[in-house]
Amino acid sequence: MNIWEKALNELKEHLSVPTFETWFRKIELEKETANAVTLNAPSEFVKEWLETKYKSLIESTLSGLKNKDVKVEIVVGEKEKGSPQKIVINNLTLKKRYSFENFVVGNGNKLAYAASTAVAKNPGTAYNPLYIYGGVGLGKTHLLQAISHYLLRNFSDLKIIYTTTEKFTNEVIYAIQNARSNSQLIDRFHKQYRSVDVLLIDDIQFLAGKERTQEEFFHTFNSLHDAGKQVVITSDCLPKEIATLQERLLTRFEWGLVADIQPPDFETRVAILKKKAELENISVPDDVLFYVAKNIFSNIRELEGALVRLVASASLTNEEITLAFATKILSNVIQTNNEPITIKRIKKVVSEYFNTSEAALDERKRSQDIVIPRQIAMYLARQLTDSSFPLIGSSFGGRDHTTVMHACAKIGKEAEKQETMKALIEDITKKLKSGN
Ligand code: ADP
Ligand code: MG
Repeated sequence: MNIWEKALNELKEHLSVPTFETWFRKIELEKETANAVTLNAPSEFVKEWLETKYKSLIESTLSGLKNKDVKVEIVVGEKEKGSPQKIVINNLTLKKRYSFENFVVGNGNKLAYAASTAVAKNPGTAYNPLYIYGGVGLGKTHLLQAISHYLLRNFSDLKIIYTTTEKFTNEVIYAIQNARSNSQLIDRFHKQYRSVDVLLIDDIQFLAGKERTQEEFFHTFNSLHDAGKQVVITSDCLPKEIATLQERLLTRFEWGLVADIQPPDFETRVAILKKKAELENISVPDDVLFYVAKNIFSNIRELEGALVRLVASASLTNEEITLAFATKILSNVIQTNNEPITIKRIKKVVSEYFNTSEAALDERKRSQDIVIPRQIAMYLARQLTDSSFPLIGSSFGGRDHTTVMHACAKIGKEAEKQETMKALIEDITKKLKSGN
């Protein structure tokens, strides 16, 4: 009996039969070391549920059996079958469900999606490099892995490296540290990266402040690009927003296509939830999906998390997933906001945010420190209430409706172009929606 089988025998004693059958039965041992045990769960759902509810119980059970403190890690057992010798994945496993088929396309991500499929179909010729950027949890890793899956399936003779910037950095450090005792390490590192046909690298923003790694990456990039090999990069920001990125790398990142991913709109959020429910083979009524999609808007990972929690709770308590059930279960994630968003509240929140007075928003003063908050407040009034331009104008010290239109167009355009303005608008919107 392995350590996990022993643990299961003990856990059975502490848990109800349905809980044990639902959450523990299908967990397998992946790896065991002196102080750590890695378990393999059949799906993300099960993994997340175990981590939130049972991790400490599992750890204490295993610690008891091994007579020392044991850390538990749970992975999901979706390993790529394909042809593993063709891909050097640096011990990273691709998630099977991160495929193009499972990626829901909407306005916010259609450019990044189209570019990714083009690159997957014609590596090295379409856009090189392809640089995908966007906020947390918006699908960058998903797209990068989808390209990998596609290449593995359709170009089995290509040599591919899928890696993360963190891994790449660690490899550089390792090669440098051990260069004296093993002079071939650096050569081997160079050869490994410079002999591939496609290099896919996640989270390049982590190059910030790492001079030597930037240096290595620069040479790797040049050698691949010169040879017409494909490079795909993801990041949470634009190349020029990566602090301390060398100018020569910055320029190169902009050589090909820089494609952004924006947060999904309501319809796309619903479609993503539907897709997810379909993949997990669960049925969730539309009104519940709408409720979740309406209230969780900035991050797809959170959107999925909410669904996971609903399904897990329902199966545990044997309840049906109704709107009332969803409202109850998700009450701590979704702050229900009884206070409606009105122009008056927008003025209050915006003026607090910028540390000015509410009255200043109505006045005629035209210094920049008040003009911008005033325009943002007008923009939000238009976005978040159903007030007309003339009504907004009259609510802001009797201004003409064309002034409001101008403000809305200007802020809207800036929010599209400029990350800081976008973040600012999102931040204030979140405050308004959460009732703070
Ligand atoms: P990022 O790397 O941008 O932080 P991920 O790629 O890890 O985000 O995505 C977070 C989660 O959201 C993943 O489970 C992913 O499958 C899912 N996801 C993101 N975008 C989409 C999409 N367009 N369609 C379906 N699922 C998506
Ligand atoms: Mg990611």
